[in-house]
Amino acid sequence: MFDTLPARQADFANWSWAQIEPYANDLLSRPLTAASVDQWLADWTRLSNLIDETYNRRYVATTLDTTDKNVVESFHTYLAEVVEPAQVMEDQLNKKLLASNLEPKDFAIQLRNIRADADIFRAENVSLGTDLQKIGTEYDQTIGAQTVQWAGEEKTLTQMKPFLHSDDRALRERVWKAISERRLADRARLNEIWGRMLPIRLKMAANAGQETFRDLQWKAFKRFDYTPADCETFHRAIEAVVVPAANRVYERQRQLLGVPTLRPWDLDRDDVYPPSRPPLHPFTDVTDLEFKTEAIIRHVDPVLADRVKLMREEKLLDLANRKGKAPGGYQTDFAASKRPFIFMNAVGLHDDVQTMLHEAGHAFHSFEMHGLPYSQQKEITSEIAEVASMSMELLAAPYLEKKYGGYYTESEAAHARIEHLEHIILFWPFMAVVDAFQHWVYTHPTQAADAANCDAVWGDLWARFIPGVDWSGLEDARVTGWHRKLHIFQIPFYYVDYGLAQVGALQVWRNSLTDASRAVQQYRYALSLGVTRPLPELFAAAGAKFAFDEATMRDLVTLIEGTIDDLRAKA
Ligand SMILES: [Zn+2]
Repeated sequence: MFDTLPARQADFANWSWAQIEPYANDLLSRPLTAASVDQWLADWTRLSNLIDETYNRRYVATTLDTTDKNVVESFHTYLAEVVEPAQVMEDQLNKKLLASNLEPKDFAIQLRNIRADADIFRAENVSLGTDLQKIGTEYDQTIGAQTVQWAGEEKTLTQMKPFLHSDDRALRERVWKAISERRLADRARLNEIWGRMLPIRLKMAANAGQETFRDLQWKAFKRFDYTPADCETFHRAIEAVVVPAANRVYERQRQLLGVPTLRPWDLDRDDVYPPSRPPLHPFTDVTDLEFKTEAIIRHVDPVLADRVKLMREEKLLDLANRKGKAPGGYQTDFAASKRPFIFMNAVGLHDDVQTMLHEAGHAFHSFEMHGLPYSQQKEITSEIAEVASMSMELLAAPYLEKKYGGYYTESEAAHARIEHLEHIILFWPFMAVVDAFQHWVYTHPTQAADAANCDAVWGDLWARFIPGVDWSGLEDARVTGWHRKLHIFQIPFYYVDYGLAQVGALQVWRNSLTDASRAVQQYRYALSLGVTRPLPELFAAAGAKFAFDEATMRDLVTLIEGTIDDLRAKA
């Protein structure tokens, strides 16, 4: 039957579910034995990849031009008419595989994940999930509608951000306070949204037979290799080792500005990051960005550089900001064609250089996994996915200079690298606040239903992890910081992942300092494994320890601070 299924996605792009269904039925009815399971998985993979790529291509089209109603309609039609029945098919095929008790080669992790999904799935939670999504949209709308009147004009908070870069401290303070006041005007509204979301999550956990919502989310995120207690170990290690290093970053910033204490308007980004100065102008247009990215990565690994080249030649990069394009940046995969795709909104900033290297790392992950036989082996979790991307930012960093085909003078490159490394230090304590807050919420759900208690806990955590910034007189803004973290409202517990991945990425980079080619080989090998191994083994394959303790963090912070000192001599 499957020899009539198109090999090329282009020949499948307009297939209806009526055309696809016979193949789904064939997979569902085919007897499953030790002898037939490999072919069955291969056929299932071929069908899944074609549907997946068609879905992704239609999604990509909606982000390339948000004003084109036809592409939006085409995407929605595909969702309703093909993707939804395909999800039902995937669920049935998963159950069939579980029921067979067969263990195909390199499939143990995937079977474990399927079992976890089956274990927590409850039909009555589907509509509760939809309710949460709708309330999540109210959160987006509330945040999105926040504007301030500035110099006689209505401006979004994003449009106000550039003023926070000003050298005029009094102006920065006025801007920061205008933003803060506007946010506080929604305090009651956001507390009310929170008050509706929390009981739904508790109900979903109870429905699924889980003691807490945290237990439910742990299974949903497939966190089988670390526990909430490990997260607490991580928080304590951050408190002991990273917080003092973050204080040193803040202190340098204070001295640079020549101010008595560092206030929130002395940090040019939301909440935690100190300003980057001077502004860098790395490239003229996205063609320049593409060629320079390839040149830099060629110093990391020629094979990876050839992949950037191939993506450029096959038009798998859409990097320029333009009117009508969706915001942000992402990497996605065209599974049937075995090609990744990168989307971003470059405007000529150093951030764009960084985003491009980050998304390139994700794309390299896709390329490496194309060698795996079954699509199910590529369903990676964020902890390893972000090792792929964050490692590439670090591995490519030594080659940002013009003499390597990159963007900057020696001094500019040193500035850019210092900023990157300082970000890493400042991010961990912030991540610890966000993560510890959520552990408290879902182990104290009755107290957390009262927003005043949430404020108090957030305030205490802020004092514990981010003592280096002076918030005196700004108490209301300080304790409501949890309102501004989308993850807390929409993707609970999804945040520690970034902190853990950074621990892996830094170790990959550390290895490259002694043996660059071996470090990159290990990195690529780890990515090529997909999810065929547990997380600690994937880290080990990358040459990294999956650990969150004080000793590990101390080593990494020492390495970062030593590198910053070296770079400062060149900056
Ligand atoms: Zn990423």
